[in-house]
Amino acid sequence: MSNTDFVLAIEDLTVSFDGFKAVDSLNLYVDKNELRVVIGPNGAGKTTVLDMICGKTRATSGSIKFKNKELTKLSEHEIVRAGIGRKFQTPSIYENLTVFQNLEVSFPKGRSVFGCLAFRLTEDVVERVHRIAEGIMLEDHLEMEAALLSHGQKQWLEIGMLLMQEPELLMLDEPVAGMSVKEREQTAELLSRICNNRSVIVIEHDMEFVKKIAHKVTVLHQGKILAEGSMEKVQADERVIEVYLGH
Ligand code: ADP
Ligand code: MG
Repeated sequence: MSNTDFVLAIEDLTVSFDGFKAVDSLNLYVDKNELRVVIGPNGAGKTTVLDMICGKTRATSGSIKFKNKELTKLSEHEIVRAGIGRKFQTPSIYENLTVFQNLEVSFPKGRSVFGCLAFRLTEDVVERVHRIAEGIMLEDHLEMEAALLSHGQKQWLEIGMLLMQEPELLMLDEPVAGMSVKEREQTAELLSRICNNRSVIVIEHDMEFVKKIAHKVTVLHQGKILAEGSMEKVQADERVIEVYLGH
């Protein structure tokens, strides 16, 4: 395909595990500043799609273009450097460091200059830590040890750590699992704020949450797109109700 304005353009993407196609000829296009939610039954291939975008799982065939750059041949590191951040289901924060330190160590380091030095604490870094801490509602907890945060706050911290890299595409796999109702609401607001200058892909099962955040919803089923469009549209789709929402 020729150059596009899409941040992400996935075409004819397939991965097969011993002949089983977990993702099957998928086409998916995400706009600049779009917040896309991917839903679908367990085993639909949702996590596998994110794994392929971030280079953890290699495509059997097809193309993934990020800002018109082909990703399928790049390493995971190169994909991060290209501007893609990905949050896994379980948070990977440093429990024994403070919130401030967790954010600070996530600042992207230059390739070699500062590589093994204790990290250089410039005004830029401090400024970014404070700005992001505010965005993730942890500005009053900067000196707190991460281990003492609530489950929800740990999830926000990990989002903050990804934001330190200023990714243009952020991907989150089931970010509100295990959160309280209040934390879910706050997370919805957080995500709406951060997609102001980046695209976000969220996988989620909580339909109340999806309704709050989604610009557009993609329903995945057996590695293929079953339906796509506004929340209203996919919710009213008979096939979506049959394979997913009805359960
Ligand atoms: P979802 O996130 O939608 O629940 P997944 O993407 O995790 O689904 O999995 C889709 C299917 O692919 C499942 O049947 C899963 O067992 C299979 N699968 C995922 N990763 C692998 C792998 N590395 N090897 C073999 N099968 C896999
Ligand atoms: Mg999954």
